[in-house]
Amino acid sequence: MDIHEYQAKEILAEFGVPVPRGGLAYSPEQAEFRARELGGQAWVVKAQIHSGGRGQAGGVRVCRGAHEVRDFAAGLFGRQLVTRQTGAAGKAVYRVWVEEASDIRRELYLGFVLDRKSERIMIVASAHGGMEIEELAEKDPASLRRMTIDPATGLIDFQARELAFSLGLSGGQIAQMVATLRACYRAFRDLDATMVEINPLVVTGTGDLVALDAKMSFDTNALFRQPRIAELRDRSQEDARESAAADHGLAYVGLDGDIGCIINGAGLAMATMDMIKLAGGEPANFLDIGGGASPERVVRAFRTVLADANVRVILVNIFAGINRCDWVAEGVVQAYREVGMTIPVVVRLAGTNVEEGRRILQASGLPLVTADTLADAADKAVAARLKSAA
Ligand code: GDP
Ligand code: MN
Repeated sequence: MDIHEYQAKEILAEFGVPVPRGGLAYSPEQAEFRARELGGQAWVVKAQIHSGGRGQAGGVRVCRGAHEVRDFAAGLFGRQLVTRQTGAAGKAVYRVWVEEASDIRRELYLGFVLDRKSERIMIVASAHGGMEIEELAEKDPASLRRMTIDPATGLIDFQARELAFSLGLSGGQIAQMVATLRACYRAFRDLDATMVEINPLVVTGTGDLVALDAKMSFDTNALFRQPRIAELRDRSQEDARESAAADHGLAYVGLDGDIGCIINGAGLAMATMDMIKLAGGEPANFLDIGGGASPERVVRAFRTVLADANVRVILVNIFAGINRCDWVAEGVVQAYREVGMTIPVVVRLAGTNVEEGRRILQASGLPLVTADTLADAADKAVAARLKSAA
């Protein structure tokens, strides 16, 4: 789960990361009020959306007067901000962060991620911040510093100092960097984060370190024990299809194609998507209905997939181990009748109670297309899609 920049800054500040002073606004007038409240002559106005790349997308601006703050904020509110990370639909701006402007001398990159290979939290840092990590990895891979943290000892000071030196920091900045690294590590560990990113971490005109941007993501499986984090969830920033599916316990990821997929098991779902592509089609989604799918659950899966207006055909692919083909077949028949299906449905069943499942489908008298193998199912879905589109 992602949170907003201002929320990440508040959390990191509590752990000891230096951040600029700022205030949140829900309207242009409030943004202007925040600027006056903060005082000074220059402010940075920042669209709060769950995405990076806001600077290049016109979502961040340094403003030199309180009226400019209000005018720039007025242009942001209610807008769908499209960045390189959001996709074409963009993300809606409902909150704006107004911050005292910082005098930037240097921009560094600092990130904490989970490294699956070493099974540890890893620090990734670079003396050249500002650009996104993907771009950095492409343009200046030699500048990247990586360091893993032993969970038994936590981040050790000499490790943190070594990293600070390698980034070209000196004097009092070393101690500030060590404190910042320790704070980020503690926040990461204590709050079940999966990512902490400060980009840029800047050196100001007075030689101090300040986190100019902050991003945090959290492990959704740990949210039950992080009520304070769970509360920060902002549904306006999520894909509506995905959050509705999650509410019903379905693992759903929306994609750009037109073949709707209802599958059990993440592995089979991935394989099916590959087979669809191989057959010349494009999946509209990833959907894992999970084990022990009741007919009700299958109906819900149908509704979720059909909520996507691009879907031209549905492919149901079940390999029943814990699942039962007869339940799934009943769900398919029920869904077909309840939703008033107008597009072709291809069904491939295998495994537990497959005979009974096939009998139910046949006895229903519905115009379902049945398939025997995964390849057969993908071919038939692509063929049905072409017919349905014609
Ligand atoms: P992102 O584009 O979504 O990652 O948003 P950032 O918070 O990183 O802001 C983008 C860019 O705006 C930064 O890399 C800075 O160059 C610039 N910026 C942000 N805050 C300030 C500030 O206080 N002063 C100045 N001069 N530039 C800023
Ligand atoms: Mn940034």
